[in-house]
Amino acid sequence: MNIKKCVQDNEKLKEIIKNLENKLKENANQKEKEKEKEKEKEKEKINIINFENYKKELEEEFNKKSLNLKNHINDYLKSKMNQFINDLSLDLFNENQKILKKEIDDIYENEKKRKIIYEENVKKEKNKKEEIHNKKTYKCHFCKENLINIFFQCEHCDEFYICEKCKSQLNTKNKEHIYNHTFQKIKVLYS
Ligand SMILES: [Zn+2]
Ligand SMILES: [Zn+2]
Repeated sequence: MNIKKCVQDNEKLKEIIKNLENKLKENANQKEKEKEKEKEKEKEKINIINFENYKKELEEEFNKKSLNLKNHINDYLKSKMNQFINDLSLDLFNENQKILKKEIDDIYENEKKRKIIYEENVKKEKNKKEEIHNKKTYKCHFCKENLINIFFQCEHCDEFYICEKCKSQLNTKNKEHIYNHTFQKIKVLYS
């Protein structure tokens, strides 16, 4: 064997091995790069998903806030409206109360007056009856009969009494009295 050729072969082998090693390295690098690209893509995907989620969250929050705002405005308007209606009806109510109070006061005052007049009349009537009752005997101005139960008193003359019969014959049969004088009918109540 030729030593020189041996060395040459050895060198060639070395070179071949070196080339192979380089290729392997290159392949490894390539794979590494692809892996990284893959990772980048994954990242991008995740970013897109995150962005979509973020957008969705923002939209949801915006919708929620607008709904809240809408509700808030609605509530505010409702309360203002109610207050307005309340104020209005309170004013009306107060006005009606005033009118009603005045009407009631008027009725009350009228009733009070009526009661006073009624009581006065009752008192007068009672006095009259008592007065009549106390006087034991009245005589008819014309026939001189004693007057009992029902008779008439001249409202213009003092102590002028006549019986029912003479009253029916007044201004006839010489039973004359002043023509425009009126008579009051008197009923005597015996207790
Ligand atoms: Zn008489
Ligand atoms: Zn008279």
